[in-house]
Amino acid sequence: MPTAVVTGASSGIGQATARALAGDGWRVICAARRLERVKALAAELGGGAVGCYLDVTDQVSIDALAAQIDVCDLLVNNAGGAKGLDTIAQAKDSDWEWMFASNVMGTARMIRALMPKLLAAPAATVVNIVSVAGRYPYAGGGGYNAAKFGQRALTGVLHRELAGTPVRVSEIDPGLVETEFSLVRFGGDAAAAAAVYQDVEPLRAADVAEAVRWVASQPPHANVDLLIITSKDQIGPDKVKRA
Ligand code: NAP
Repeated sequence: MPTAVVTGASSGIGQATARALAGDGWRVICAARRLERVKALAAELGGGAVGCYLDVTDQVSIDALAAQIDVCDLLVNNAGGAKGLDTIAQAKDSDWEWMFASNVMGTARMIRALMPKLLAAPAATVVNIVSVAGRYPYAGGGGYNAAKFGQRALTGVLHRELAGTPVRVSEIDPGLVETEFSLVRFGGDAAAAAAVYQDVEPLRAADVAEAVRWVASQPPHANVDLLIITSKDQIGPDKVKRA
């Protein structure tokens, strides 16, 4: 049974991805900081699924996870998110540092730690969950845009560096997805988070999970370089046609 590592599996896109992959016959390592959630998810999935503590900003935690895996056939770098919607003039360094540490450095560190395990697989795939915010800037998006542009850049670099190896590299850029993303962005302000999804039908986490499942299910010679997936009423990170 091939093994998939999904970071940020305690919620949203990561949790849905773990479910979709398990349904396709993957043994899923469900990793996040909220250990009780990923353990419950693994118990629900069965098939050898494991719930593991992981903080992608902490090298000790990453190394401990990597030490538990012999071969990794699929790494889904999903852990991350946004903090704040301040202008660049008013932004807090701590928010930017959180976004860079999780989205950019977290992705890079996971790839580095698991590279020997990916190269040990007969064919492997790295899927980075980036964002349309990695393609189009928007007012208030400064730190998140910069982080996702950065994560996207490292995805392109990785693809070039791994050409000729059995490891494929894919980027998935979702638009608005209703998850805990906005709750985290607005520091737990449920009203502010709900307003993001008001009068529009956003993507569901399962929609993005299905994209990951499909990318991973392609034959080893085929690399899905990029998928952009948005709500039908979204035409940019800050352009949503609301009812
Ligand atoms: P979510 O529901 O808030 O899930 C974020 C996940 O990331 C959680 O499982 C969280 O787990 C994990 N995470 C955050 N920091 C972490 C860390 N330091 N170490 C390990 N895990 C960490 O949001 P989501 O929408 O599913 O977001 C998943 C990814 O999709 C993110 O990279 C986000 O930027 C991207 N994305 C989201 C949207 C959207 O509209 N929702 C659109 C485009 C892209 P713990 O807190 O338990 O660690």
